Amino acid sequence: MSVSRVRSGHGWTAQIAESLFAVLFPSDCRVCGTALVKISRLPVCQDCLDSMNPIAGGLCAICGERLFSSYAAASAEAQARCGLCRRIEPVFARAAAYGSYESGLRELIHLLKYGGVRPAANVLGRMLAEAIAMLEPEFPAEPVALVPVPLHRTRLRQRGFNQAELIARAAMKVRRPDNRLLLCPVLERKRETTSQIGLTSHQRRENLRGAFGVLGPEAVKGREVLVVDDVYTTGATVSECARVLRRAGATKVWVATVARTLKISAQHMEIRPAAGEAEASIETEDVPMAKAVGT
Ligand SMILES: [Zn+2]
Ligand SMILES: [Zn+2]
Repeated sequence: MSVSRVRSGHGWTAQIAESLFAVLFPSDCRVCGTALVKISRLPVCQDCLDSMNPIAGGLCAICGERLFSSYAAASAEAQARCGLCRRIEPVFARAAAYGSYESGLRELIHLLKYGGVRPAANVLGRMLAEAIAMLEPEFPAEPVALVPVPLHRTRLRQRGFNQAELIARAAMKVRRPDNRLLLCPVLERKRETTSQIGLTSHQRRENLRGAFGVLGPEAVKGREVLVVDDVYTTGATVSECARVLRRAGATKVWVATVARTLKISAQHMEIRPAAGEAEASIETEDVPMAKAVGT
């Protein structure tokens, strides 16, 4: 059975033959392009997965931004704050992220969001579980409400799933049995927000004002809440989510994401758009500020 014969077929028989072919003969790694030797539902090689390391080095104790040595030296390591968190008290208690939003990890998130490769959510969920574990020592005795950042219904219809919720569910599977977290998808995105690219932090906040609502306030009232998302870019989105959740009665809001943009990595960000960048530009909260130069 030759490939060309399969591909020249029509209708459902050709479709079945093609998907069978894809299962029997693995494709190339969707991150680095090398041929995959093992059959896996996730078309990413082990070397690429192994390269997605946790963030190392001195970080802001509140938002997780990378600290420059002078900042880190200014206060004890455990409470060191970045310039932004020293100027304005964040609305959330603390944000933790697993990895830096660049290279392989960035590609893996794009595979899920724009490539529709759902098995990527399992790997990303394991990473999110690690970010949650960083916050966990400070969790209260009673369960924390796990709230994924929602998509607007138009975007949800286009994509077919909310990546934040998919990753959150995968993280909960890793943590099983879990009596410390309670999945509560109570946030709704009331309107599609315009792109955040090139906006100042004040404009970003204005852009997101009124974008989120709490559908079931009783689920978060008097409770501590953990907001989860795939990427933390400037923190404007999770901060707005935290603000409405606090207003609905949440006593404290924590934030965990799979990835985070970091200052250092933004300095040597390539000018050339990466794969999936065209779609990424329509996404709010997804494009690092370095990309916004000149737009
Ligand atoms: Zn690879
Ligand atoms: Zn900070």
